[in-house]
Formats: sequence, structure tokens, C-alpha cells
Amino acid sequence: MSDFIPVNEPLLNGNEKKYLNECIDTGWISSEGPFIKKFEESVSKQVNRQYGIAVSNGSVALDAAVLALGIGKGDEVIMPTFTIISCAAAIVRAGALPVLVDADPYTWNMDVNQIESKITKRTKAIMVVHIYGLPVDMDPVLRIAQKHGLQIIEDAAEMHGQLYKGKPCGSFGDISTFSFYPNKHITTGEGGMILTNEEGIAEKCRSLRNLCFKPGRRFVHEELGFNFRMTNLQAALGLAQLERLDDFVAKKRKMGALYHSLLEDAEGIQLPLKATEFADNIYWVYGIVLEKEIAFDAEEAMKRLSKLGVGSRPFFYPMHQQPVFAKMGLFKNEQYPVSEKIAERGFYVPSGLAITEQQIKVVSEKLKEVLTA
Ligand SMILES: *Cc1c(COP(=O)(O)O)cnc(C)c1O
Repeated sequence: MSDFIPVNEPLLNGNEKKYLNECIDTGWISSEGPFIKKFEESVSKQVNRQYGIAVSNGSVALDAAVLALGIGKGDEVIMPTFTIISCAAAIVRAGALPVLVDADPYTWNMDVNQIESKITKRTKAIMVVHIYGLPVDMDPVLRIAQKHGLQIIEDAAEMHGQLYKGKPCGSFGDISTFSFYPNKHITTGEGGMILTNEEGIAEKCRSLRNLCFKPGRRFVHEELGFNFRMTNLQAALGLAQLERLDDFVAKKRKMGALYHSLLEDAEGIQLPLKATEFADNIYWVYGIVLEKEIAFDAEEAMKRLSKLGVGSRPFFYPMHQQPVFAKMGLFKNEQYPVSEKIAERGFYVPSGLAITEQQIKVVSEKLKEVLTA
């Protein structure tokens, strides 16, 4: 059998080593160091935002974002049920209540038509999460937010380099977040960033990131913060990665197009949309949903793929079905049929930046083998 094809492998063959060596040669390895500011400025510029605050990962970026907007006890935040736990966790930890909406069956993004009916007197914000490669339809969300005086938190972790109607994802929220985990388009190993145009919010995030040290008198604290700092080493890696964003995006789109041409004639699977009216897919991951005529679920498909040497991962598991939230008494008796279906029948195949055409061909063949077995 040929080598196992991993679900993700990053590409680190640009200036990564050079910049990391600079950190070591100069001794700047902590969160004090010149690459942090450079990286923050480069990402903000790329996303067309005034301020960037680098943090240690994309999950804590969401924690800080929720707190920086002053969301807390008694507040509600509308968000998709089909997403990563980090989104709901940030809201719950702040003492607020996540209010869920279902996914669109084709883009897998939050169904924006369900937002307005979920608004109450307590609603403070909408947390938008762009899922897997296509942006959420932002215009209706912006309209609803304006009409009801709501803030927008935009989780753009999977969207480096993606545009919505020509504007960068991550430029729409009152506050936006990114992740630089190795399966994202740009990686720092672990890392994240918060972006905003409002100086006050940026200042609050910087303070939360650094234990809320009081300016002027270190070790005195008016509020409790965190150590969410990113290191100079991570920022060095990120800067080298960002230099290649255009190439990375092109590579992802090429990967998506090749998968598409190899799989479009396969029976019984739903493929990602190539585009919507507002964006071309960037294929953060190449997702597959098994249709009714396939007699097994995603778990079984992934098991069979693994035996054939192909890595894969399940789709997200909906927030309203999470045991941890059930224990807290949240989302009792709530049902979101689209999210439940795609969570059970969806998975994604190897789609990292280092994937080769040959590997894509092998994955597609093995997948077809699994489907027809
Ligand atoms: C990856 C991801 C996160 C979390 O980022 P980490 O850096 O892994 O903590 C948050 N939101 C979305 C949508 C993600 O894909």
C-alpha cells in the first residue's frame, strides 16, 4: 500500500526558516519582539482593518472578542449551531446565552433567513462564522444588525484570503477573528488574531491579552485578564506565510477544481458548491455529504477510507447536541435538521496546502471505491 495521505499538511517552504532564525539570532522569542507588530500590521492591512491584535489561538480570539464588546450575563448572541465549540464556548464563558440557527443545506453556513425570528430584547450581537470555504451572505446580516442595533462578531478563521462581494472576509464585523492553526490557510503553529476598526475595542483586547495590566503601574489590576499573548516566533512564521497568501488561495482553488472534476460523476455524494453569487469557494476543506442512497454514514465512510490509506475528518457536531451544553441545561428539545444531517453524513477529505495532484487523484479513486463497495 502506498503512503497514508494525511488530512492536512501545511506548506512551510518560504521565508519561515529565515525569519525564525532571525528570532533565535536576536534572542527575541517572547511576545515582545519586532515580528508581532509587523504581523499584526500585515494582517490588518490585508483584511482592510485598522487594528490587529495577535493572540495565542483562534479560540481565545473569540473569548476576547465577546468580552471586548461588553457581552455578559443576561445577553443573547445569535450564532450557527453548525460550527466549532469555540464560538459557543466564548459566549457561555462570558455568562451570555448562545441562540442558535440552522445551516443552509448547500453552503453549510448559517441560514441567515432564520436570524431575525430569534431576536429578543436581550439580543446583543450576531456571531457570524464562515464555514469551510464560502462566506456567509453578509448583506442581510448587516441589514438586520443595523435595524436592531446589534453588534457583529465575525469568525473568519477559515477565510484568510476569501472575499465577499469583493471585500475581505474579516472586514465585516465590529470585531473579527482569525485562527492560524496548521490547517488554516495561514499558520503560526498555534495562533489567532482579533481585528477591529475601533480604537477602544482594540485597546480592550490588548489589555485582556496581557492580564489587564494597568497602564503606568504594572502588577496593579482593575480587571481580570488573561495571558493570550502570541510569541515573536509564531509571528515570524505567520509573516512568512502571509507573503504567500495569494499563491495559497490559488492552490486551494486548484485543489477544489480538481476534486470536483474527479468526483462530479460519483453517485450518492453532495460536493461543495463551486461558487455562490457572492464568492468563489476557497475550499478551506473539501467537504463531502453522503446522500440518502448511500447506506452508511460518515463515520463508516471515514473508517473505510482510512483502511485504504486516506485520512479524513468528520464535519462539525452541532452545538445543540453537545453533551457539555446539555449538562448545562442549554438548547433543550431544540432541533436543527440540516445541521443534524450534515453532521451525521458529512466529512472532509485531505485538503491541506501540501497536497499533490497525484494524491488528490488517489483520494478520489479511493472515495469512489468506498461508495460503490
Ligand atoms: C479553527 C477554528 C477556530 C479555532 O481556532 P484555534 O486556533 O484552533 O483555536 C475557531 N473558529 C473556526 C470557524 C475555526 O475553523
